[in-house]
Amino acid sequence: MNRIASLARLESREEWDIIVIGGGATGLGIAVDAAQRGFKTLLVEKNDFAKGTSSRSTKLVHGGVRYLAQGNIKLVMEALRERGHMLANAPHLTRIQEFIIPAFNIFQQLYYGAGLWVYDLLSNRFSLGKPRLLGKRKLKKYLPGLNVNGVRGGILYTDGQFDDARFAIALALTAHDIGAVLLNYMSVNGLIKKDGKVTGVLLQDELRSQTFEARGKVVINATGVFVDSILDLDDSASPAAVMPSQGVHLVVDASFFPGNSALMIPKTRDGRVLFAVPWSNAVVLGTTDTPLNSISEEPTALEEEIGFIMDHFNQYCNKKITRNDIKSVFAGLRPLVKTSNTGSTALASRDHTIIVSPSNLITITGGKWTTYRKMAKDAVNNAAFVAKLPIVKCRTRKLRLHGYDPEIAYGQPLSAYGSDAKQIRELINENREWGSFLHPSHVYIKAEVIWAVRMEMAQQVEDVLARRFRLLFVDAQAALDIAPEVARLMAIELKATPEWVEEQLASFTELARGYLA
Ligand SMILES: Cc1cc2nc3c(=O)[nH]c(=O)nc-3n(C[C@H](O)[C@H](O)[C@H](O)COP(=O)(O)OP(=O)(O)OC[C@H]3O[C@@H](n4cnc5c(N)ncnc54)[C@H](O)[C@@H]3O)c2cc1C
Repeated sequence: MNRIASLARLESREEWDIIVIGGGATGLGIAVDAAQRGFKTLLVEKNDFAKGTSSRSTKLVHGGVRYLAQGNIKLVMEALRERGHMLANAPHLTRIQEFIIPAFNIFQQLYYGAGLWVYDLLSNRFSLGKPRLLGKRKLKKYLPGLNVNGVRGGILYTDGQFDDARFAIALALTAHDIGAVLLNYMSVNGLIKKDGKVTGVLLQDELRSQTFEARGKVVINATGVFVDSILDLDDSASPAAVMPSQGVHLVVDASFFPGNSALMIPKTRDGRVLFAVPWSNAVVLGTTDTPLNSISEEPTALEEEIGFIMDHFNQYCNKKITRNDIKSVFAGLRPLVKTSNTGSTALASRDHTIIVSPSNLITITGGKWTTYRKMAKDAVNNAAFVAKLPIVKCRTRKLRLHGYDPEIAYGQPLSAYGSDAKQIRELINENREWGSFLHPSHVYIKAEVIWAVRMEMAQQVEDVLARRFRLLFVDAQAALDIAPEVARLMAIELKATPEWVEEQLASFTELARGYLA
C-alpha cells in the first residue's frame, strides 16, 4: 500500500464505482466489501487510517452484555455473529478473552449468571463457552488483583478482544490487496454535483498543497462523528444525524491488575459498565459516556472522567492507582445516531443507520467496531442500488484479512502483522541495525518503522507511534522517548529533510503531552 502509487491513480482521473469518505472501521469495512464485489473503489481519509474513534475503543469484540440488559436482542445477536467472523477471519489480531463480574450476594450472582446464560444462548453456533459461577476462592485465582472484601463470588463469561487500530490497518491492506485505492491525509472539502445528484468529491491533500477531483457513481459518507459536516456540504439544511458522546480510557501497568482475565463492573453511578481489560502488557480501564456539544479530531479527557474511572477501579482493586500510575489516557467519540429521544447517551442505541439523501449521497453512522462488516454490507447494498451497479452479493463473511495466519498467537512480538512478520524479520538482512529494540521496556524493533513506511502508508511519526505501534496508547512517555529515533528512520525512508524531522518531533511532543495524565 503505497501513497505515491495511489496518488498516481487519483491523477489519472478515472471514474470510480464507489468513493468512500472516511478511513475508520466503517469506511475501511466498506472499501473491503465493495472491492471484494468487484466494484472500482476509492477511499479517502482526512488524517491517518483509524485516527478517529476506531483507534480509541475499549478493544472488545463483543455482543454487548449491556445492550442485552437494555433489551436490544437484535443488536446483540448481530454483534455476536460478527464477533465470530472477526475472530475467525483475523486470528492474528483478535483473541478470546475471559471476563469476570464480581457478585456481592447470591441474588446478583444468579441474576448476572442468568443474563450471561441468555447472552451465550443468543450466540448460537458462535458460542465461545457457557458462563460459569465462581466461588470466592476461584475468583481470587482468576483475579488476584481484586479486592474481595464483601464479595461472594463471581460469574465468568467469554467474549473477544482485539487491537483496533491494527485491525483497521489490516482492513486497509485487505482492501488494497483486492484492488481498492486508498489514501490517507486526503480530505473531502466539497461535493461535485450534476442535476442535483452527487457525482464526485473535491479533495485536498493534507500533506502537500494540492487539490484533486474524483468522480464516482456513488459517494458514501462514513466519517463517524463528522458525518454532519459532509451532510452540510450536500445540503446546509440537513438535520444533524449524530449526537457525539465521549468515552475515556486510562492505561496502567499490568501489575495493578495481574492475571489474564478481565474485570467487568456491571453498574457504575451513571448506569454504565466499566472494564479492566489486559491489553498489550498493560491494563485498559474504561470507559465513560459524556455527551458533547462540540467535537474535535483529538478529543481530550475531562478531569471528572479521569476521576470517575480511578474512583471506580480503586473500589475494586487491591493496589490503588494514583495519577502518577497512569501510563496513557485517551478519549474517543461515539457517533451515536441522533434521535428525538435524547436522554442519557449511555442508554442511546448502538444500532447503525443509513441515510440516502435526495442527492444520492449515502451516509452511514452509529454501530460498533464489532459490527463493522455488517454495516459495510448494508452500506454497499444501498450504494449499489442507488448507483445501479451490477447486483453482486456481499462476499466478506469468510474473507480472511491481510496477514491471516492461524498459527500466529495474538499478543506476541510482531504477531499483529500476521504472515507479514516473516518479511519484517527479513528486513534485518538489509540492515542489521534494524533488528534492535527501540525501547528497553517494549518489544518494538526498528525494522517495524521501515515496514510501516514502506508497506502500511505511515506518513508521520504519530502514525507509527499511535496506530502502527500502539505505544502512545500504552505508554505515552515511552512513545515520547523513542520519537526522535522513529523520526530519523522515517526521514531516511521518506527522503525527508532535517526540517521535517524537527516539525514532526514538535507536533508529536505536543500531541503526546495530551496522553500523559
Ligand atoms: C470510548 C469508546 C469505546 C468503544 N469501545 C468499543 C468496543 O470495545 N467494541 C466495539 O465494538 N465498539 C466500540 N466502540 C465503538 C467503535 O469504536 C465505533 O463505532 C467505530 O470505531 C466507529 O468507526 P467509524 O469508522 O464510523 O468512525 P471513525 O473511526 O471516527 O472514522 C471516521 C473517519 O472519517 C475521517 N473523516 C472525517 N471527515 C473527513 C473528511 N472530510 N474527509 C475525509 N475523511 C474524513 C476521520 O478522520 C475519521 O478517521 C467504542 C467507541 C468509543 C467512543
